[in-house]
Amino acid sequence: MGVSFDKIDGVIWYDGKLVPWADANVHVLTHGLHYASCVFEGERAYGGKIFKSTAHSERLKRSANILDFEIPYSVAEIDAAKQLVLEKNGLPDAYVRPVAWRGSEMMGVSAQSNTIHLAIACWSWPSYFDPAERLKGIRLALADYRRPDPKTIPALAKAAGLYMICTISKHKAEREGYADAMMLDWQGRVAECTGANIFFIKDGKIHTPIADCFLAGITRETVIELARKRGIEVVERRILPEELNGFTECFITGTAAEVTPVAEIANWKFTPGAITKQLMEDYTAEVQPKKAAA
Ligand code: PMP
Repeated sequence: MGVSFDKIDGVIWYDGKLVPWADANVHVLTHGLHYASCVFEGERAYGGKIFKSTAHSERLKRSANILDFEIPYSVAEIDAAKQLVLEKNGLPDAYVRPVAWRGSEMMGVSAQSNTIHLAIACWSWPSYFDPAERLKGIRLALADYRRPDPKTIPALAKAAGLYMICTISKHKAEREGYADAMMLDWQGRVAECTGANIFFIKDGKIHTPIADCFLAGITRETVIELARKRGIEVVERRILPEELNGFTECFITGTAAEVTPVAEIANWKFTPGAITKQLMEDYTAEVQPKKAAA
């Protein structure tokens, strides 16, 4: 295990100021901690520039609105703060973690007037670059928990509370020797993994679940665009677990996972192939900072 995340040497942007890493703390009586009134983002910087920074800042603001609070900074201010944190920590290839939460003024279910806080940290996270090793594919378990009905919880927000079942599911999968777990949705259809979206391939066409009861990933959207640019058809539809027998390739997408091939989900087997490899390469090219036109 590496250095504990509260002990990294660096600076964190905290409510508008850069503070030493060790000073970026919250009190134990914080609404965000007790009642999960907390939203966050996961982003990656490549060569000093955050990929789709504005889309992530917009999603952060949107997630907060869904939880009935307003982050007191604009999208442009959040974008600038993220860039500043990267530069001050001297990290060109990094994971960026903005987090916003309700503070301590009221400690009950109701927290109408609590202060909204925003912090932004980043840490070194180089991209995984051995394509041959990666193409072997990861193994996924099938999670016991399902993604909840959007009428049960605001399923489209990137909110802390939604990750409770993800951590439980991922821990169980890891104990059984899997890398992660695939989750079904509340109606028993294929949904996503604990922190990544999922895609399947059959007869040269890509199939992926409709993102209406789980996070519609920014990587998912990027990969769909990249595939269509290559002339590969992408079908967003309901996918039943019984259908998994019929797919030849499978991969997952996410800011952290990028495009990661899958070799196995419980008893279903896949062989990472040409389309997965192509999209891994296209995604790696896409995230590189664009050179300004001459
Ligand atoms: N689903 C979940 C549950 C996630 O945590 C993530 C990672 N943010 C994703 C999907 C992929 O989203 P993105 O591509 O925006 O990182």
